[in-house]
Amino acid sequence: MSKPIVAIVGRPNVGKSTLFNRIVGDRISIVEDEPSITRDRIYAEGEWLNNHFLLVDTGGIDLNSEKELKEDIRRQAEIAIDEADVILFMLDGRTGLQPMDREVANMLRKSGKPIILTVNKVDYKKLEEEIKYDFYELGLDDPVLISAEHGLNIGDLLDEVIIHFPQEEEIEYEDDIIRISVIGRPNVGKSSLVNQVLGKNRVIVSDIPGTTRDAIDTYFKLGDREFAIIDTAGMRRRGKVKPGIEKYSVIRSLGAIDRSDVVLMVLDATEGMTEQDKRVAGYAHEDGKAMVIVVNKWDLIEKGNDTNKRYAEDIRYDVGFLNYAPITFVSALTGQRVLEILEIVEYVAEQHSRRVKTNTLNNVLKEATSMFEPPSDKGKRLKIYYATQPRVKPPLFVLFVNDPDLMHFSYKRYLKNKIRDAFGFSGTPIKIIVRER
Ligand code: GDP
Ligand code: GDP
Repeated sequence: MSKPIVAIVGRPNVGKSTLFNRIVGDRISIVEDEPSITRDRIYAEGEWLNNHFLLVDTGGIDLNSEKELKEDIRRQAEIAIDEADVILFMLDGRTGLQPMDREVANMLRKSGKPIILTVNKVDYKKLEEEIKYDFYELGLDDPVLISAEHGLNIGDLLDEVIIHFPQEEEIEYEDDIIRISVIGRPNVGKSSLVNQVLGKNRVIVSDIPGTTRDAIDTYFKLGDREFAIIDTAGMRRRGKVKPGIEKYSVIRSLGAIDRSDVVLMVLDATEGMTEQDKRVAGYAHEDGKAMVIVVNKWDLIEKGNDTNKRYAEDIRYDVGFLNYAPITFVSALTGQRVLEILEIVEYVAEQHSRRVKTNTLNNVLKEATSMFEPPSDKGKRLKIYYATQPRVKPPLFVLFVNDPDLMHFSYKRYLKNKIRDAFGFSGTPIKIIVRER
């Protein structure tokens, strides 16, 4: 099932993104060798005492910039109320309560969602007693006093957060069904594409014995292959969507990404990839999902020499971290190349769950390290003893080394490229972790 969603809400400058990075930052730097995508993340996975959740910094969701600040904060609160399982309502202990805080508190209180009143910038003990009572008038629970910057009381805060998680058992999918999430802004053509893909040649199945399934998803067969299209909010809805509403769909689509193997990132050819798309794509990347970029409405593009190629290059330039994702140009309107989408999905799903031979892997790494020596620091050089691939979906490689601190992200990226050169892994991110032997 989807992970619980925890949303951080509050005025600008109260410390939302500092807290966000404090909670998810470390975790990602261990596995990620692409510093570029981690910079302005607003969705990421967090973990506390084995509870995994999605953390969202609502301050980073770009709402209409021409709107007033006040309106923005109100909208963020609405998003959190609609989508989150737990809301961290953040206040600034230094400035004290502001009128806007009271207004947001009223909205949140009425929602009935679990609200954790979080007062930030309580940087030292003495401040605690002074500050605490200022916030009682909001009529919410006792505030948790933290310092995001100095990492104080973050554990207490997360203890509070996880208490409110729905106690559901995690369903582990043991079947061979390829689960697809279809992600993209409203009106890019997601439902049109899904309808085409589910057209008359597919066999929709409502019940395959011996499998775990979710009633809201659509299961179908193509040949011997079984697929499921994960339900995304609003995908079955018809007609135009009001512009403001689209921001709401973002968080819900993260849940769909979580439950899928392959993400179809749908773009409108006339619009290309927006900042919002990039962030969602960044989330899918970090979440280790296979991805296919589907440029829809290709019928609307005037074509000359190399139009596809140049369009693809622009996307590659824009989202360098997705360099493994195939790009396909389709039209849900004319049906052009729509049926090929499933072939590509099947292919990347295979790559996503592919396991390579330990022997071959070690030979590839041996060759890579002899071509380009591992980094060294203060006279000590990184030594890679051997590597294994303990996991798939996505392929995970563990390198056993003399000293993990000697690994540099640029060298990790080099090794990743070498692994890709040797094995392909088209359509799927791959992860490398480094362990001391
Ligand atoms: P956001 O706009 O709510 O995302 O706020 P930011 O995370 O960008 O933080 C705004 C400012 O508050 C930055 O200058 C931070 O360094 C500072 N800040 C964040 N947390 C703390 C804290 O715990 N103590 C103090 N003194 N400053 C903090
Ligand atoms: P969704 O909100 O992403 O599910 O988008 P829809 O499938 O509802 O499509 C939005 C609008 O774009 C509708 O008016 C569709 O008819 C139109 N549309 C979808 N795919 C295409 C396409 O390939 N070419 C053109 N020209 N229009 C399309």
